[in-house]
Amino acid sequence: MQDKASCIVSMGSNMGSREDNLKAAVRRLRSDPHIFDLRVSSVYETSPVGYLDQDDFLNICVAFKTDLEPEELLDLTQKIEKEGLRERHIHWGPRTIDLDIILYGDLEYESSRLTIPHPRFRERAFVLAPLCELTGMEYELPQGQEIRRVGQFEFE
Ligand code: ATP
Ligand code: CA
Ligand code: CA
Repeated sequence: MQDKASCIVSMGSNMGSREDNLKAAVRRLRSDPHIFDLRVSSVYETSPVGYLDQDDFLNICVAFKTDLEPEELLDLTQKIEKEGLRERHIHWGPRTIDLDIILYGDLEYESSRLTIPHPRFRERAFVLAPLCELTGMEYELPQGQEIRRVGQFEFE
């Protein structure tokens, strides 16, 4: 078996109970037998990017190790999105839960359904702030994106 890869997944929600949606996704990911040592960032509230006529997002990043291959990890994150009854009708529009794979070790990977690192993460304060918090990496946050740190989830 290969060594486990250190990964970052970004999660966002702006429909329904955003906090419950995110917590359910974290619990689901953390309880998977292929996910190890999962850590959760602070919670950030951000105004929408792209399609603007929608509610604010809550965003977090999670860091973990996995023995899943990249496409297997995407299968898992997409399954969690489906279980979260993700609804979406507008590109970049409102959704109950969105899971994006940001980093998978230092792998660069491209297929028809998966690009790693996530191609747009460096433009997004709501990804960079929690990513820096979890990893100690240093990125300058893009100008003009309002982002508010609103606390930390508690998992009982
Ligand atoms: P964005 O990717 O800009 O954040 P989005 O999250 O709204 O936009 P989705 O509709 O959730 O986009 O995803 C579209 C497709 O992107 C997915 O079906 C998936 O196959 C593909 N994809 C490519 N790279 C990744 C990645 N690193 N993480 C998650 N999905 C990815
Ligand atoms: Ca996304
Ligand atoms: Ca996505």
